[in-house]
Amino acid sequence: MSDVMVDVRGVHKSFGPLEVLRGVDLRVRAGEVTVVLGPSGSGKSTLLRTINHLEKVNRGWISIDGELIGYRRSGNRLHELKEKDVLKQRTHIGFVFQNFNLFPHLTVLDNLVEAPVAALRRPRKEAVETARRLLARVGLADKADAYPRQLSGGQQQRVAIARALALEPKVLLFDEPTSALDPELVGEVLDVIKDLARTGTTMIVVTHEIGFAREVADTVVFMDGGVVVEQGPPSAVLDEPQHERTRAFLSKVL
Ligand code: ADP
Ligand code: MG
Repeated sequence: MSDVMVDVRGVHKSFGPLEVLRGVDLRVRAGEVTVVLGPSGSGKSTLLRTINHLEKVNRGWISIDGELIGYRRSGNRLHELKEKDVLKQRTHIGFVFQNFNLFPHLTVLDNLVEAPVAALRRPRKEAVETARRLLARVGLADKADAYPRQLSGGQQQRVAIARALALEPKVLLFDEPTSALDPELVGEVLDVIKDLARTGTTMIVVTHEIGFAREVADTVVFMDGGVVVEQGPPSAVLDEPQHERTRAFLSKVL
């Protein structure tokens, strides 16, 4: 496959005796949107967390844009990178959480400016300009000086997305970005993600929003029991699932 941005190969992950990922393979091309579906406990969050090395893997490997994540290869052995180097890699991997995770003591603008200045050593003036442009892009130009607690959940999540974009990530990972929102606020967040999809941002989105998957995903991945059960274009996986487990899951969420 050409232009592979995210490459997950044979990833295993256990917590003590519990094997949560049992050999996950996933390839995401540059500019494509992959939506990951699956029942609670199937390993979706753990998979995202291994992709930016918030979790170590027990077996297998992950690369982004051709660079091994969390490890360096020496001969046929992998050695874990130093924390400093992991943090550097993580600046290229945007992560948007269910609960926004904004810095409560910083204004919206400073939430976007902090990491580019601290981690990428961007001049503050330049980081502020970028932050204002990104806030306009998510429809929140007028909220630059507000604090997170003064915003709705939907607005906070749009700030979180803008903050992730401020580091110009190679890939954006979303872990159920609308699950904590009141139903009437889901649409505004999905619209921002749709806009990113149109402009070619590489994304992996864990969500239960099937309509969003159908409209936006290039590939839908169905996970269960720590493995990818099936994957393909939305029309195939959502309308003609090949596996009983996929059918059972979809009959519950559709
Ligand atoms: P999903 O996101 O699909 O709901 P998760 O990846 O969060 O699934 O969790 C998969 C399984 O791994 C669950 O049984 C969960 O309890 C377990 N798990 C996740 N993180 C940890 C952890 N840090 N320690 C122990 N068990 C964990
Ligand atoms: Mg989860």
